[in-house]
Amino acid sequence: MKPAAFDYVAPRTVPEAVDALENGGRKAQVLAGGQSLLLEMHLERVRPDLVVDINRIPELDTLRVVDGSLRVGALVRHRVFESAEAVPGPLGSLFSLAVVNIAHPPIRSRGTMVGSFGWGHPASEWCAIAMALDADIDLRGPQGVRTVAARDYFHGPLRTDRRPGELITSVRYPLLAEQTGVGFVEHRRTHFCFAQVAVAAVLTVDDGVIREARIGLVNCADRPLRAHAAERALTGVEIGAPADGYRLPEDHPFARAGRVAAERDAAPLAEPYADLEYRRHAIAVVTARALCQAADDHRSRAGGTKGDS
Ligand SMILES: Cc1cc2nc3c(=O)[nH]c(=O)nc-3n(C[C@H](O)[C@H](O)[C@H](O)COP(=O)(O)OP(=O)(O)OC[C@H]3O[C@@H](n4cnc5c(N)ncnc54)[C@H](O)[C@@H]3O)c2cc1C
Repeated sequence: MKPAAFDYVAPRTVPEAVDALENGGRKAQVLAGGQSLLLEMHLERVRPDLVVDINRIPELDTLRVVDGSLRVGALVRHRVFESAEAVPGPLGSLFSLAVVNIAHPPIRSRGTMVGSFGWGHPASEWCAIAMALDADIDLRGPQGVRTVAARDYFHGPLRTDRRPGELITSVRYPLLAEQTGVGFVEHRRTHFCFAQVAVAAVLTVDDGVIREARIGLVNCADRPLRAHAAERALTGVEIGAPADGYRLPEDHPFARAGRVAAERDAAPLAEPYADLEYRRHAIAVVTARALCQAADDHRSRAGGTKGDS
């Protein structure tokens, strides 16, 4: 199918883009990487009157560390994060583990991280990581600039706190301390489709004890989620000896936390290829594996193979 007719502008500055969006009203769409928008337009599920192409605004194509946070501008492509060195410390490792699960290389070369927040899909890897890390979303609109915490940003499937006329200029993530362990595990039906379940796990370990766990759930509800109950179940627990995430005993703390995530945090919806029982089982298993990976990552950063730091 061909998209319905639309007007097109390509502003050179952020204020020009915001003006264009304001004039376009509710039927204006931002074009970033176009990897979601153009498909939706071809299927005529989205019919904008105006497309505001932001690809000629150089100030949006920046990746910077500012005051201990990573600021990702609206034109930074997914593919940038394939190298763990693109971002300092464990955050770079977490991003590089996650990004390879997003579609395939041509899509990652055009699609943007920030575009994922414009879209607000429950199966977005970036959005769940933003939930786990308490990231901030920076918006600029006709009324000025505002910042929304990730926990307040996602309202439901493809529904976010972004108001008509607003442009997301950047997303900011706190950098992670050097010995923080990170893991990201994804389960999907076939190559290149969205995650059935994916989990980001971030562990802060002190003297062999988990001081803080952060867990982000991908496609486990109608929006990206943080698994607060599973995190609480892990706080103060000994990290223990290395464990094989594929053969974890049922009473292992990570297996227990996985079940808590599945039963208490997640609110999965049945899908054609996965009923609720299957989905909850997958969430428990994938969460436990991501935690094992994060624990291993902590051990290697701390320079030992034992269960302590
Ligand atoms: C086959 C296929 C598989 C995919 N698999 C995955 C996957 O596994 N995981 C995943 O996360 N994504 C996946 N995607 C989506 C892809 O990663 C997109 O790149 C992603 O949604 C970001 O969109 P974009 O930059 O291409 O934005 P666009 O497509 O340009 O825009 C998407 C939406 O966000 C809005 N928007 C974009 N940028 C801004 C901004 N700065 N301010 C305000 N609104 C904005 C647009 O108006 C539009 O509504 C897949 C896509 C395809 C085609």
